[in-house]
Amino acid sequence: MAVDDSGQAKWKRKYFETLEQMEEQEREWRGMDESLRHGLSRLALVSTGLNSGLDVQLKKLRRVLQDQGNRQQLDDIVNKISSYLKTLDEQGGAETTAHRQTPLGLLMELAESIEFPSAFQPQARRLHKALKSRDAEDHLDRLTNEFSALLVSAFYPNSKDKPAQPAPEIVPSNEKEKTSWWKRMFASTEHASEQLHEIPAPPQPLTPISIAEHVTTPGTAEPVHALPDTAGAGDNKILKKTLLDFLEHLSFPSEFSERVQSLRDTLVADLSPDVVDAVVKGLVSLVTDVQQQLEREKEELELFLKQLGQRLQELDAMVDGAETQRLASLTSGRKLDEMVKAQVNDIEQTVQTVDDVVEMKGLIQGSLEHIRQHLAEKQRQEEAHQHSLEEQLKGLNLRLEQMESESEQLRKRLVSERQQAMTDPLTSVPNRLGYEKRIAHEFSRWQRYGSPLTLLLCDIDYFKRINDTYGHRAGDRALMAIAKTLNLPLRESDFMARIGGEEFIVLLPETTLEAAIPVAEKLRAAVEVCEFVYEGKPVPITMSGGVASFSEGDSIEAVYQRADKALYQAKDQGRNRFITEK
Ligand code: GH3
Ligand code: MG
Ligand code: MG
Repeated sequence: MAVDDSGQAKWKRKYFETLEQMEEQEREWRGMDESLRHGLSRLALVSTGLNSGLDVQLKKLRRVLQDQGNRQQLDDIVNKISSYLKTLDEQGGAETTAHRQTPLGLLMELAESIEFPSAFQPQARRLHKALKSRDAEDHLDRLTNEFSALLVSAFYPNSKDKPAQPAPEIVPSNEKEKTSWWKRMFASTEHASEQLHEIPAPPQPLTPISIAEHVTTPGTAEPVHALPDTAGAGDNKILKKTLLDFLEHLSFPSEFSERVQSLRDTLVADLSPDVVDAVVKGLVSLVTDVQQQLEREKEELELFLKQLGQRLQELDAMVDGAETQRLASLTSGRKLDEMVKAQVNDIEQTVQTVDDVVEMKGLIQGSLEHIRQHLAEKQRQEEAHQHSLEEQLKGLNLRLEQMESESEQLRKRLVSERQQAMTDPLTSVPNRLGYEKRIAHEFSRWQRYGSPLTLLLCDIDYFKRINDTYGHRAGDRALMAIAKTLNLPLRESDFMARIGGEEFIVLLPETTLEAAIPVAEKLRAAVEVCEFVYEGKPVPITMSGGVASFSEGDSIEAVYQRADKALYQAKDQGRNRFITEK
């Protein structure tokens, strides 16, 4: 920038140009502030739902960003969020204490599902205690061996065989059990609230030995009732049924389906003491592997969160830096302004007081030179600022882009994991977890709007015979066909899930008890004619069910109980029918 001595007009113009430049720069800063706020908003969105404390801060953050809140508020919230992310990382994000899908949890549930013959009960109690002890995790291998040995001695009276097979490789998780919100995503079908169908044993012409039918599902504290204890040992057929039922009621991420299937095939084929041992160990190793996979995924996510936290801090530091530069620029602009005013005053005074033209010219030239130097210095500073600003903006954009793509990937993965956790891998219809989510939603809608809501609880008749006659795989194919058949006549707003082995539930929103009866009949008839074919021969399948509607003061549990009671009656009255419970 050159200031020549051709007159006041020229340097005035330069001075105003500089002021304009500074205003332009201020506008740019404001733009940058906006893009920072935008970035923070996106962060707030992506991190929501990880931890309730964090959620509160994120909500505040969104509000402050929307209301263009001040820097101090923003700083406080960003600091709190950073420290939440840090603790979330240190604590493994713990919010739930459920750890049913741990190897020890599995052994405990299994132990609770089996009623050991009385002679073995003291041992079973000791083992249960040992499973609950603090250091049980360190002795997983030993406890698994003891558990399997106890099963063999309790249910194989004449067998002195100790399991001959070497234990499958079991990798115990040495890490302390970290409970984690991440596990909620994968939490298996919940059984704790599952209802027992106390259905008396049906005549079973295809099964040579009648087995007591009161078998609990895992998670219920109710034990298996063993046959009369004669030789001091239990009947291993009951053990087989318990193990099969247990396996069928566990749900694993779909990539483990093959292993589950092969465990089931082993169980179905034969139940020698060796198989009991291999199945118990196989189950433990399966759950261990699932747990490890979940841990790995959790760690990956935690790493991402940590990086997110760091990025938040970096962004914060950038906002600080930007603010400091803006203030510095304003201050130096103000100084220049004052300096120029002083020089203009000097020139005016010179013009008024100095008569000697040569002297006046010299003085004015001195003042102009002074101004020129300052303007040049100011311009150099501004250019440097401009450059560093551009660099920062570039870096910021890059980070925002990265964050956006990472959070998008993460979001997609979470959506698909969530979806997977709520889907039954065999039939691809929602599982119990899916049902629980949906019923909670429909229930609150019903409470709010009071529009009718009806529930159908369905159970396939004599399904065990299908398995026994045609094999488990045929049984599986039948279940797939049934799920398809049930879905067909339903409306889009209706909901159907497979909530247990051969049990399905249907939710009919906006449908009264009366209106639900023909729907239930349609479903029953559809299953009856669904023509499941095995080796060219049609296999008849029928289904029974209970119908119950929500009415004043009802809880989900109460309606479920009524439907269950009606289902029980339908079975009692000969099956292949629906009973309505008012
Ligand atoms: P009921 O008419 O009283 O309902 O008789 P049922 O034989 O259907 O009843 P029960 O509850 O005794 O047997 C259910 C059977 O369903 C036992 C189990 O082997 C079978 N089952 C449960 N889940 C699956 C599965 O995923 N695949 C196959 N193939 N069979 C399953
Ligand atoms: Mg059943
Ligand atoms: Mg059944």
